Amino acid sequence: MNFHYTALPWNVIFAVGARTRLPQELARLGYSRALVLTTPNQADSGREIAALLGDVAVGLFDRAMMHVPVEALDAATAEVERLHADCSVAIGGGSTTGLGKALAFHLGLPNIVLPTSYAGSEMTNLWALTRGDRKVTRRDNVVVPTLTIYDPELTLTLPPAFAAASGMNAMAQAVANASAQDANPISSVLALEGIRALAHSLPLIISEPDNMDARAGALYGASLAGAALGTGATGLHHRLCHTFGGTFNTPHAETHTVLLPHSVAYNAGARPAATRRIAEALGVNDAATGLFDLAGNLGAPTALKDIGVKETDLDEAAAVTVEKPINNPEPVTREKVRALLENAFHGNPP
Ligand code: NAD
Repeated sequence: MNFHYTALPWNVIFAVGARTRLPQELARLGYSRALVLTTPNQADSGREIAALLGDVAVGLFDRAMMHVPVEALDAATAEVERLHADCSVAIGGGSTTGLGKALAFHLGLPNIVLPTSYAGSEMTNLWALTRGDRKVTRRDNVVVPTLTIYDPELTLTLPPAFAAASGMNAMAQAVANASAQDANPISSVLALEGIRALAHSLPLIISEPDNMDARAGALYGASLAGAALGTGATGLHHRLCHTFGGTFNTPHAETHTVLLPHSVAYNAGARPAATRRIAEALGVNDAATGLFDLAGNLGAPTALKDIGVKETDLDEAAAVTVEKPINNPEPVTREKVRALLENAFHGNPP
């Protein structure tokens, strides 16, 4: 065995109803002027958190947006300065967490996060900023939240269709990590436990949306998937998703969902032991087929043609994917990637 593992400075509270501990946790950390961050869609949730904090909430910024446009960062920065905020409290999905992280990087502003989706960004040191159509992603430990409070009750408002796509996005982070070329054994433990929790909980959320154990299990699984993404390796799967998101503007979570079974099948021969462990964690005989069936059972998309990709895009997508070298267990060639995309386009089983 031969590996290098660097932990991230996580500080996590997980409990049903944990959001009510926010005032005492902020006091314990020594913050007294919080700017609450959220999206326009979740402005009511932002107001509830501000009410919970009372005088400690000095403002609400409800203009967080997908991919952290520089305009949103500039407007939030102006609010931090105008209100003399000494921390941010982000309530929302990956977009809101992303704004808190960008403020942490640019202003050194401590960030507290209450995640409400399964993006898992709160467990990584990745942060992003978008200028025009150019999104730049970087790693820096300063953006890892000062405190993350997971309260599964906050995910009850996630519509089942978004819960399915967001959950499969988390699944993709964990699976891609556990089957990567330089898979880190400690990250893999986190990833496999995340896969187990997500595979068990996501179908229950669809059949029983109010099942709190299922909501908690999915959030726990998503947290571990984010932790694996934050500390482990990636490969062909992430390159494919980056290609489609960046070049063809396909939706983030759905792109991961469709491509995952196919990228797992691509690497199965080169990483048999890891692929078997993923199948065991999923509770199925074959990892790629199991993931394809899970997405179908959740009502999540399983074909590129259903998420805005045209058949004429596939040649260019294959070419863009192999433009730069990829550290991947199975050698990556344009022909093999094109064959993978053909299957994924039509929604054929992997
Ligand atoms: P999102 O944060 O954009 O949320 C989508 C919509 O759903 C928003 O309007 C949001 O307000 C709403 N929403 C979220 N939770 C809700 C809830 N419980 N109830 C009702 N509405 C809710 O989407 P996302 O998938 O959570 O995050 C995607 C973004 O996060 C992307 O920009 C992606 O690049 C980024 N991301 C970053 C990392 C990282 O490590 N930096 C990891 C994963 C994702």
